[in-house]
Amino acid sequence: PVSISRKRLISDADLASISITNPTRRLFGKSGPTKLDLAVYYAMIGDFMLPHILGRPVSLVRCPTGKSEDCFFQRHPFTGMPPSVATFQSPNSEGETKTYISVEDAKSYLALAQFGVVEFHNWGTTRMLLDKPDRMVFDLDPGEGIAWREVVEAAIHIKSELEAIGLVPFVKTSGGKGVHVVLPIRPKLNWKKFHQAASAIATRLAATAPETFTTTMGKGNRVRRIFIDFHRNARSHTWAAPYSLRARTNLPASTPLSWTDLEAIDAPGDLNYSSLPGLLATSGDPWADIGDFARELPPQSGPEK
Ligand code: ATP
Ligand code: MN
Ligand code: MN
Repeated sequence: PVSISRKRLISDADLASISITNPTRRLFGKSGPTKLDLAVYYAMIGDFMLPHILGRPVSLVRCPTGKSEDCFFQRHPFTGMPPSVATFQSPNSEGETKTYISVEDAKSYLALAQFGVVEFHNWGTTRMLLDKPDRMVFDLDPGEGIAWREVVEAAIHIKSELEAIGLVPFVKTSGGKGVHVVLPIRPKLNWKKFHQAASAIATRLAATAPETFTTTMGKGNRVRRIFIDFHRNARSHTWAAPYSLRARTNLPASTPLSWTDLEAIDAPGDLNYSSLPGLLATSGDPWADIGDFARELPPQSGPEK
């Protein structure tokens, strides 16, 4: 057996302090998981998830009634938000000052999970260096008629193209239909240059297999194609955090995988709130050392200014 290096970020005291209102309330139907299942999941995988979200701005999906049609996306602090959760102010694209949320410690993360937060989404940056992003994501969105196996093959193709330009790609399921290819990047470019670099890379990736990929947003362009959504790399845009559950039946998880394990996955929906804690306990976090592989973006994809 491999020994899993697992840094304890969630203390026994944190775990002992968990208390949940309406623990038996079900999410997404009569036989769906309960609010307690949700909180237990986040407590169990916290040591794996926290390194990827600590110190980063987040948005949250909340589902207060447990019905999927009542879920909503929360980018700003809200009434009843656990008081330990950190907030900070920053101008939005219109130059107005807005207040955002960030997860700065295990306690506030657990508090959000107990409160009933279903999904965590993060910006590809840290609060410390807010305007120097350090994670680039290519969100692969399969259009009509694209099978899961084709998404996997496309991601592996993209992996080798990214490696050829000196970058180190990591992969996770989205928890939905697609996958997210994530690159650790040295925090040097501002958001504008970063988004431009992502656009240039996505355009080049798409050109290597134009029958498979598109970088154009419109739905019609996506039939039998995979949209390389690079717009998650704009300021204040978010993507599902590693290990976040998704607000739908059986709570699938956005699951980091090794590239080898990605190939072995036939049904990404099986990676969910109930299966993942056990899998992680034996395999560990395939993204554990992602930060050690931060690279500079190649100059032709966005000159530094
Ligand atoms: P899939 O594989 O099914 O595409 P996904 O998580 O990649 O799953 P997308 O629709 O591609 O889903 O991405 C939507 C992203 O946009 C989310 O990850 C989220 O961070 C962000 N987002 C911004 N506003 C909203 C909103 N109102 N509701 C949901 N997501 C939002
Ligand atoms: Mn997507
Ligand atoms: Mn998308």
